[in-house]
Amino acid sequence: SLTLGIVGLPNVGKSTLFNALTSNDALAANYPFATIEPNVGVVPLPDSRLATLAELYGSEKLVPATVSFVDIAGIVKGASEGQGLGNKFLANIREADAICQVIRVFDDPDVVHVDGNVDPSSDIETINTELILADLQTLDKALPRLEKEARTNKDKRPALEAANEAKAILDGGTTLFTAKKADVPELRELNLLTTKPFLYVFNADEGVLSDDARKQELRDLVAPGDAVFLDAKVESELIELDEESARELLESVGQPEPGLHALARAGFHTLGLQSYLTAGPKEARAWTIPQGATAPQAAGVIHTDFERGFIKAEIVSFPDLVDAGSMSAARSAGKVRMEGKDYVMTDGDVVEFRFNV
Ligand code: GDP
Repeated sequence: SLTLGIVGLPNVGKSTLFNALTSNDALAANYPFATIEPNVGVVPLPDSRLATLAELYGSEKLVPATVSFVDIAGIVKGASEGQGLGNKFLANIREADAICQVIRVFDDPDVVHVDGNVDPSSDIETINTELILADLQTLDKALPRLEKEARTNKDKRPALEAANEAKAILDGGTTLFTAKKADVPELRELNLLTTKPFLYVFNADEGVLSDDARKQELRDLVAPGDAVFLDAKVESELIELDEESARELLESVGQPEPGLHALARAGFHTLGLQSYLTAGPKEARAWTIPQGATAPQAAGVIHTDFERGFIKAEIVSFPDLVDAGSMSAARSAGKVRMEGKDYVMTDGDVVEFRFNV
């Protein structure tokens, strides 16, 4: 499955956040047999629609979609100079599908900042610089080959042009994601780091969390990346509390929900994922598919045979199903559609597949 790699300067709260992510009881309850690597956190995607479906269908169990975060420990500054730890750090980032950077916004005289003071934009710059330098090295290695190929084969010219354009962008200090060059097919084989989508987690204190203008400033700083604001220390306390006390703590810091919920949703979004829903007496479940997936591809997530034997999908949108009160009432109301193999799925589609086996 797709993963987000957590990176950031030392002492910004990565471990605190990662521990909160991985001590999530909701997950342990739903996946008792999941074997999870120590540096991988599989986080359930909060989805209130599942409880509603379970009520309509009398489902015994709720199965949420999940998002996977990988803790990428290691050095940051100088990583692109590429020895030992630096290489490992970059190789781990290369394996991730998106980059989740934790940025310190909290003030705490007891927690040393590696660069002396809290400065989100400089922290972002530091990480970007290492990733940009690593990509420039990749390009410098690839360009002579691409030039040679383009000389004898004109089909290879677009690849050379794309690589040269990427180099110019990176030389200017901009990531390819920020320059909106993330989806250039000609660049794909180079597996560049800065084409990956970015998610920024601002580890902030209460003052910032309740300051909408400051948050907007930080959001603007990282656009087009997604931004999440949370207090990792509060998150690590929340997971220790029962529901009632957790609600009180959230209220006391003026937050409507745990930051981990927002983080899971943002991670899911950053990875380009969406979910569709199925329900029955056994379980109400959210299934993970890429945005743009067709109905047979969605069926294939349940079982590969379902994709091959796909005939059609009976689909109702979640709000329409809830309005009608049941699948049969939704059918009578004309809200249930029969969709064929070209149908592109929408988040929140409630589905029954018809297939040959
Ligand atoms: P890492 O090096 O990025 O993994 O950072 P850690 O998670 O180890 O955190 C470094 C220090 O900062 C620890 O002493 C944490 O308790 C503290 N810390 C982490 N998050 C917060 C926060 O949101 N507020 C405050 N005040 N301290 C935090």
